Amino acid sequence: MKNINNLFFDRESPAGRIVRGLAAFGAATAGQLAKSTGLGRSTISAVLSDLRDAGAVLDVEAKTNGQGRPSQLLSLNPASGRCAGVLLGLGEIRIVICDMTHAVLSDVWIPIRRDYTPEEAADQVRESLQTQCAPLGLAIGDLLGVGVAISAPLSYGGRVLNGDILPGWAGVDLAEIFSKRLDCPLHAENESHCGALAEMTWGAAVGESDFVLYKFDLGVGGAIVRDGTVLRGVSGSAAEFGHVVLEPEGRYCRCGNRGCLQTYVGGYYLLRHAEELSGGPVTIEQFIDRAREGRIGYRRLVEDAATKAGWGMGMTATMINPPLFIIAGKLATIGPSFLEPLERSFRRTMLPQPDLPGLQTPRLAVARFLGNDDTVMGAVALVLRQHGRIAEGKTPASL
Ligand SMILES: [Zn+2]
Repeated sequence: MKNINNLFFDRESPAGRIVRGLAAFGAATAGQLAKSTGLGRSTISAVLSDLRDAGAVLDVEAKTNGQGRPSQLLSLNPASGRCAGVLLGLGEIRIVICDMTHAVLSDVWIPIRRDYTPEEAADQVRESLQTQCAPLGLAIGDLLGVGVAISAPLSYGGRVLNGDILPGWAGVDLAEIFSKRLDCPLHAENESHCGALAEMTWGAAVGESDFVLYKFDLGVGGAIVRDGTVLRGVSGSAAEFGHVVLEPEGRYCRCGNRGCLQTYVGGYYLLRHAEELSGGPVTIEQFIDRAREGRIGYRRLVEDAATKAGWGMGMTATMINPPLFIIAGKLATIGPSFLEPLERSFRRTMLPQPDLPGLQTPRLAVARFLGNDDTVMGAVALVLRQHGRIAEGKTPASL
């Protein structure tokens, strides 16, 4: 079978662009590849024919839309490459290995102390990846890449910019620590940016090239996607919506500033109030259950938080007028008592639109991934979409 490694890392040639397009889609029609790569249909047809003959591309099934001739779906040969996604979370590490059709081959969850160090995380990831790769007949160096999702903004070079969720990690050079232990290309991004990539690849934003994601969880994060690319900004901390200041003299925030959106909507803030109500510790899962039940004390708390959330999103809509907002994070699972006041506040806050026939206004959609699947699968998508590369590693010579 043709070795796709060189093509996967080739940004320029038509064959490289098609292989990367198929890796991003998992399975696609020639028409989808033409749209995503900008290549002509005849070029695509010739390259696909070569790749098919070499066994690197397979016809998987025909896609019908109920009209006309069905379109053939194509995918890379699943055995043509594997990649891994790693979530570095609060008290947990999760590691997934996928093939080129996006099938999950291995999924491991490792509980770990909340105050784990970057070196401990990297050692743990190396050890687990070795164990997960062995039954697949692979070494870590055979992977097309490892994507790492972390609950903090990251610089382009892979330096952690803030230790909000992982105290002690601020300033840590993730590229240096992980590339010493993992002998393959390394990608890293903050978890909300990974969430946006997961939604683009498998979720509520499939086929969308422009959207904004807001993630409401223990903290509040987000992503702005423009032309299919997650914007990172000058330092890598773009779309940190949780730290938009609503009230300059407001409550102190974990980021070091005051009155951030997160101090009104973030789970940390809501749990503190819930603990006052119940007189004991409350987990975010318990909070969500009680909010869903509509318990007295929770109703107003959730409505006020959702109203502030919609306020923040309305400001974003006024500034960049995107066609779609995706609402992600565990708080979205509260349901209508969170989502309805959020939407009311959102519509009320954004620039009023004239009532013209056919004029589009931003749509709201709830994310497909609402647990931590978005983060770990987004870390896989970092590699599949070649996003957020922080270290080169060795390019696999053969698989
Ligand atoms: Zn803040």
